[in-house]
Amino acid sequence: MILRVFRYIPFTIEQDQTAEPEYEARCVAGDESECGAESGTQSGPGPVEEWQRKHTQETGHRHYRRNFGDYAVMRPPAELAEPVEADGGTA
Ligand SMILES: [Zn+2]
Repeated sequence: MILRVFRYIPFTIEQDQTAEPEYEARCVAGDESECGAESGTQSGPGPVEEWQRKHTQETGHRHYRRNFGDYAVMRPPAELAEPVEADGGTA
């Protein structure tokens, strides 16, 4: 058995502002096999809900699976994020 010891670094976890969150829905209506219609990936919940309303109006289907995904960034503590130059320079 191999034991590895890691030094604990208190990263904070933030949403990655450079990547858009992803919203989507899939119609799961149906008994034997589900409908499977998809909203496609959207950058906000609005267009997904709009698609659901339209799909329900057209088909009568009323059950959906919704997916939300976003990206996260691990931020090290400030002192590690911005290492201070050891060299003081000439003054
Ligand atoms: Zn459907």
